[in-house]
Amino acid sequence: MSCIFCKIIAGEIPSKKIYEDDDMLAFSDINPMAPVHFLVIPKKHIENLLVMEDKDALLIGKLLCKAKELAKQQGCEEKGGRFVINAKSDGGQTVDHLHIHFLGGRSLGWPPG
Ligand code: 5GP
Ligand code: ZN
Repeated sequence: MSCIFCKIIAGEIPSKKIYEDDDMLAFSDINPMAPVHFLVIPKKHIENLLVMEDKDALLIGKLLCKAKELAKQQGCEEKGGRFVINAKSDGGQTVDHLHIHFLGGRSLGWPPG
């Protein structure tokens, strides 16, 4: 297994976990781009949103619901933040295991560079 996020799920690479259940894991980004920056990933290895299958729609929905809940728990309900899913090279995806970023705790620029 060469996927680093699968290794994090398996406990072979340590992470700062903030939530885990049978379907997903949420953990702090190792290189935070904002005061709050965590990732929510499915335990199922799906490379990116472009290759997800319709049968995974419920799973992806669960990930988004959990990302929302964790963002609120981390104090970002009032001012909000950004939910990001990068896909493939033009999207800046560097880890080929689907992940939702949440960034908050500061004002974020738009559009992305
Ligand atoms: P991408 O650029 O693929 O959308 O985002 C991948 C994210 O994973 C990056 O923000 C990067 O900092 C984070 N990341 C990469 N390797 C590790 C790791 O080993 N542990 C953690 N916690 N985050 C990682
Ligand atoms: Zn993986």
